[in-house]
Amino acid sequence: MKDLVFSTNNQHKVEEVQQKLQGLCQIRTLKEFGCTDDIPEDHDTLEGNASQKSHYLFDKYGCDCFSDDTGLEVEALGGEPGVYSARYAGESKDSEANMNKLLLNLEGKTNRKARFRTIISLIIDGEEHLFEGIVNGTILTERHGKEGFGYDPIFQPEGYDRSFAELSMEEKNAISHRGRATEKLIAFLQGYSSKK
Ligand code: IMP
Repeated sequence: MKDLVFSTNNQHKVEEVQQKLQGLCQIRTLKEFGCTDDIPEDHDTLEGNASQKSHYLFDKYGCDCFSDDTGLEVEALGGEPGVYSARYAGESKDSEANMNKLLLNLEGKTNRKARFRTIISLIIDGEEHLFEGIVNGTILTERHGKEGFGYDPIFQPEGYDRSFAELSMEEKNAISHRGRATEKLIAFLQGYSSKK
């Protein structure tokens, strides 16, 4: 089984991705791999950041690895917070403060359409491959649910009457931005291992 380092220490992300990649490859987090560096992500696109994180690991350790970068793109705010989703309310990357700011900025707006977009950058045998996953939905007027992380309590995916934070991990994973990007990663890895 392929060993892949996942350039994150976000346990929620690891569990979501691991649930899908089971049996196909062994994932190691940065901590498990022994990397405690604060990996830079200072680009102004999701693609740029995902790529930067994977290249950092590959350049330093030469390992097969992948990273993801996600943004919440809100239509009425011209796509904000987008690539700045983590730091929307400041450098502390506080999810509660981020949600408060978003709810405030949408007050009185009737268009609450939004989408989550994830880019996964995989570097395998020294070559990079990018995968995108998108889920459309709406921003609720208040928080609902306790599952998940980040903006989950205020994001309701299209076709559902519950927020991401009211879905089980399996339900979220089946339709989410990261789940969809991970499906593409899996299809690629399956084709890749059969060619080897
Ligand atoms: P990053 O991919 O860790 O840079 O995520 C950027 C921002 O989006 C952070 O504030 C995360 O908490 C948030 N985020 C990323 N993925 C999700 C998700 O699946 N649900 C809710 N918020 C997310």
